[in-house]
Amino acid sequence: MTEEQRKERALGYVLACRDYGEADRIVTFFTVERGKLKGIAKSARKSAKRFSNAIELFSLSQIIFSRRRAGTLYLIEDCHVVNHYSHIREDLEKTLAASYFIELIDLFSLEEKPAAHLFDHLKIFLDLLEDGPFAPSLVRLFELRLLTLCGYEPALEHCARCGDPLDTGEKMIFCAEDGGISCSRCRRDGVAGIRVSAGTMRTLVTGRHLPPDKLRRLVFSGQALRESEEILTRFIGHILGKQPRSLRVFKEVLLLGNR
Ligand SMILES: [Zn+2]
Repeated sequence: MTEEQRKERALGYVLACRDYGEADRIVTFFTVERGKLKGIAKSARKSAKRFSNAIELFSLSQIIFSRRRAGTLYLIEDCHVVNHYSHIREDLEKTLAASYFIELIDLFSLEEKPAAHLFDHLKIFLDLLEDGPFAPSLVRLFELRLLTLCGYEPALEHCARCGDPLDTGEKMIFCAEDGGISCSRCRRDGVAGIRVSAGTMRTLVTGRHLPPDKLRRLVFSGQALRESEEILTRFIGHILGKQPRSLRVFKEVLLLGNR
């Protein structure tokens, strides 16, 4: 066996999985060791036993892989599930949230670029979903903290344009193009923004750096949930240049449920 063909191991989450040809699947993992990693799982469609649930979306799996040449797809030699997140899969809202989390990680990460902080972030929130009831605040906190980890921390306490501290007594407008809230002096006419209450701003500031074991205890008011959903999803859409597909599905399903 040549050096290029030697087998490697990695621990990773399944971010995406699609059929390829008659019998195979192409799987995108998000690994601790290598960042995003794409590989072909031979005969994964033909034999249900071969990879079992190790290549299902948001499964955490131990992967054994190899590659003939740089620049080609990895060959997934073997894959064992470490955590299948069965409680998430039993619950529709949790499944939709987990699907949204992995799509965001896919969109904000790069192939072959390790990003342990993003891996830990995903693990914290999947574990929170797995171990307790669904809460929409977890989705907002996932978005907020992901943005912060990726260098897009929204300006909430200081003006996004001039950097001066914001006066919570005045009307606060979040503008995705500016990257946050701007003060009344910097606000420009004709630029669309989203009104944010001081309560929402304070909730998000608190949630940004809270230790993971305290995240569930952070209470969002109904207004804070509505406003933070609007500013965070709008900001993410602005950065990516599109709305994540799973977010649209999530919203449609929740709307159907509320009818
Ligand atoms: Zn300003």
